[in-house]
Amino acid sequence: MARVLVVEDETSLRFVLERGLRNAGFEVLTAASAAAGWELLGEADVLVLDWMLPDEDGLRFLARLRRTPAYEALPVLMLTARAGERDRVEGLLGGADDYLTKPFSTPELAARLVALLRRAGGRRVLERGALRIDLERARVTLAGRELALTRREYDLLAFLAREPGRVYPRAELIERVWGPDFLGTPRTVDQHVAQLREKLGEGWIETVRGKGYRFAEDP
Ligand code: CA
Repeated sequence: MARVLVVEDETSLRFVLERGLRNAGFEVLTAASAAAGWELLGEADVLVLDWMLPDEDGLRFLARLRRTPAYEALPVLMLTARAGERDRVEGLLGGADDYLTKPFSTPELAARLVALLRRAGGRRVLERGALRIDLERARVTLAGRELALTRREYDLLAFLAREPGRVYPRAELIERVWGPDFLGTPRTVDQHVAQLREKLGEGWIETVRGKGYRFAEDP
């Protein structure tokens, strides 16, 4: 079941959307502010974002989201009370995938979300320079050449590449990539990083002395 996050400050509309989308078969998360919505982004498959929010302009929120690698591919439908071509163009330039002007019907919103999710299904790909990680097929190519990675090598690379520049301690990598029940040592991570470097070449995964590993911000 797809999970939709609705970020809308207007209580009555939020309630109507929550109920309507639930009836349409979605799992629904709601937030009444940009700050609360941001906290839930990681759990959403698709986002319904109101333009006018009390704490942050919806377009600014959207721009911030698109600059965050973990969310750059999240499908977003923007809601606005202002009709007109200018708004539409602005919304699309801001990185929205679709757009509805209030008032609208919940079935129409649900249909648009289904279409967005269908489109996004074929688009779950991370592109980092010459490196392309297809998250649907678990395939990695470097400059068009497919890399033969083990399952763990792939998992580790895909995890790190979601947020270039972010440093992860070895213990956190063990927990997030191998799982909390894995009885590995930090050496396990070192070995996999070494294997990945052999296959990818230098410059992709960086060691941050005393802290851990990160995917290069500018590989
Ligand atoms: Ca609003």
